[in-house]
Amino acid sequence: MIFISHNSDDREKLVLPLVKSIESISELKTFVAELNPNATYLRNKIVPQLDVCWALVLLFTRKASKSQWVNQEIGFVAKKWWPNPPKVILVLEQGIKPKAFLEQMEIVYTIDSADTVEETQMEDMVYKVLCVLRKEIPQEIPLHLRVNCSCGFEKEIPLPSQKKIDGIIERRINMEFDCERCNKRIYVNPKTLISS
Ligand SMILES: [Zn+2]
Repeated sequence: MIFISHNSDDREKLVLPLVKSIESISELKTFVAELNPNATYLRNKIVPQLDVCWALVLLFTRKASKSQWVNQEIGFVAKKWWPNPPKVILVLEQGIKPKAFLEQMEIVYTIDSADTVEETQMEDMVYKVLCVLRKEIPQEIPLHLRVNCSCGFEKEIPLPSQKKIDGIIERRINMEFDCERCNKRIYVNPKTLISS
């Protein structure tokens, strides 16, 4: 389980696209807390998920840094696994300084502004997060990519290696597949793994 720690105001612009990309890899599952959680929900739903997560993506935006929920989630993770916490993938918003436990964490990406994040920045952020997640998964575990056609057809293919994906990104092209149902070409963004 990959826990996505965030502020609910960042849900539409940051969290949902990121989750969609992560879950386009069939083997990866995410947990996103519901809007407006309460204390019971924290105890019964969030804490058990934090218990089993092997990675925590922390979208530490201006709003998230002020959220008591996000800070409690960080505190729980820091305490629970100290000195061996799960992989923390830290995404910052420009101008926000990580403090305490977070100071030791590698910053995976910094976005200029959570409210007006541009598509290219979003793609780069998703790409970086996916790269880190993939590195954490033992190579023996085969991963699969969900490819979706606009006709509704979905198929799973072995996820190309990161090296191969990076080569496609370098050439500024998309990954291409054929739809077996309608014969249309399906294009997959190599950074976000999203089909179009
Ligand atoms: Zn199709």
